Amino acid sequence: MQQCPLCLSPGGEIVWEDGLCRVVRVDGAEGAAFPGYCRVIWRTHIAEMTDLDPGSRRHLMNVVFAVEAALRALVAPDKINLAALGNMVPHLHWHVIPRWRDDSHFPAAIWADPQKSVAAIRHVPAASALTAAIIAALTEEESGA
Ligand SMILES: [Zn+2]
Repeated sequence: MQQCPLCLSPGGEIVWEDGLCRVVRVDGAEGAAFPGYCRVIWRTHIAEMTDLDPGSRRHLMNVVFAVEAALRALVAPDKINLAALGNMVPHLHWHVIPRWRDDSHFPAAIWADPQKSVAAIRHVPAASALTAAIIAALTEEESGA
């Protein structure tokens, strides 16, 4: 079981975590192409959202929504893409992907073939800025009725 890549390494720079899940900022080419791209990764091997108990499910989505809110505040994308595929690893995880009309793949999914070469170069938000924005948004999300 320890051969799993997401048990062996975080899968990016950890910008927030608790006992149940972590948020990583995606590095490398994907992180450069979609600055601020984060993944929310459940810590244990859970395959489907409906395998989580309702409280855990709610918490995971609160974290996803907090990352979405953080990215809207930090990088002002034209659109946020939320995706959960999970065909490659045994950890439930959500992709939170900032998108711009002039990004390499818009309006296709980031996993499709590129639509164009990239013109705009955008700044990748600092891990510390992401952490602060996620904490602020999650506090608001989890205090909401
Ligand atoms: Zn694992």
